[in-house]
Amino acid sequence: TEPLLRVEGLRKHFVLKKGFPKPRTIRVRAVEDISFSIEPGQAFGLVGESGCGKSTAARALLRLIEPDAGRVLFRGEDVLTAKGQALKALRRRIQIVFQDPYSSLDPRQSIGSALTEPMRVHGIATGAEARRRAAALMEEVGLPPSALDRLPHEFSGGQRQRIGIARALTVEPELIIADEPVSALDVSVQAQVLLLLRELRQRRGLSFLFVSHDLSVVRWFCDRVAVMYLGRIVEEGPAARVLANPLHPYAQVLRDASPIPDPSRRTALPRILGEIPSAANPPPGCPFHPRCIHAMPICSQQMPAWTPAPGEKAGGVACHLVG
Ligand code: SF4
Ligand code: MG
Repeated sequence: TEPLLRVEGLRKHFVLKKGFPKPRTIRVRAVEDISFSIEPGQAFGLVGESGCGKSTAARALLRLIEPDAGRVLFRGEDVLTAKGQALKALRRRIQIVFQDPYSSLDPRQSIGSALTEPMRVHGIATGAEARRRAAALMEEVGLPPSALDRLPHEFSGGQRQRIGIARALTVEPELIIADEPVSALDVSVQAQVLLLLRELRQRRGLSFLFVSHDLSVVRWFCDRVAVMYLGRIVEEGPAARVLANPLHPYAQVLRDASPIPDPSRRTALPRILGEIPSAANPPPGCPFHPRCIHAMPICSQQMPAWTPAPGEKAGGVACHLVG
């Protein structure tokens, strides 16, 4: 059967000019050939250190930034080639929740108008019916319907994230892309927002692409996980297995840096094994080899092939040690 979302060979490079007086062109390989699938109802985590390309990948698959190459199939329909009404319909079914909801809310627009506008744009409801739906959504995310008449600045960070979630739900999406949805919140508020997301997931049968640098949060929320390093997926599999017993040396380092499976404890990834090489100048062979304690001569010469993890039907790992 067709997965809900299938991403194949997604790539996004940024071309920058740097230097003075003679600027040179730099190609930053933010996302380099990534592929994964999300099944209906699944929560799929995309994890990695800051700068690994996970947010760029999440934005590129919705074309908030245009990718350079790849296919993104939502129930078999290609998002990257869709135009006009077809693209609008796909964008209704996939909604994104950002790390900082304040940046996506118009400071002069009431919450009520921010929630009813997408319903009108997508022909779901207008007038009193839209207002009634907006009030019901506020209750569903744990805010009083009277909040509809207020402006974004009147709410705390956690409340604004609840509003961001309510707004994503106005158009009845099937897939939510959540990009670090709790990282900007106080630790005490993070768990409440995560619980809300999990509740909504269960009640509405939603699927998630959950982008995070926080392994404990991903372990708690996700069924499957892909670990990204320098624009590539280096391991993918069941979240419980990959985050507890990863096969890839980089995923092992991440795990060791983040041992506490408790969503109320925020575990930022420390800078491990020195600086991450630049995506403008990725190392040859396995991109992790300059930092890998298991590196062998072949690792600096040849990109490791994608190999299934022993005993698993989907996913795999890209490392010369495996297979
Ligand atoms: Fe380490 Fe080599 Fe595996 Fe890369 S391929 S992770 S360098 S052992
Ligand atoms: Mg990011």
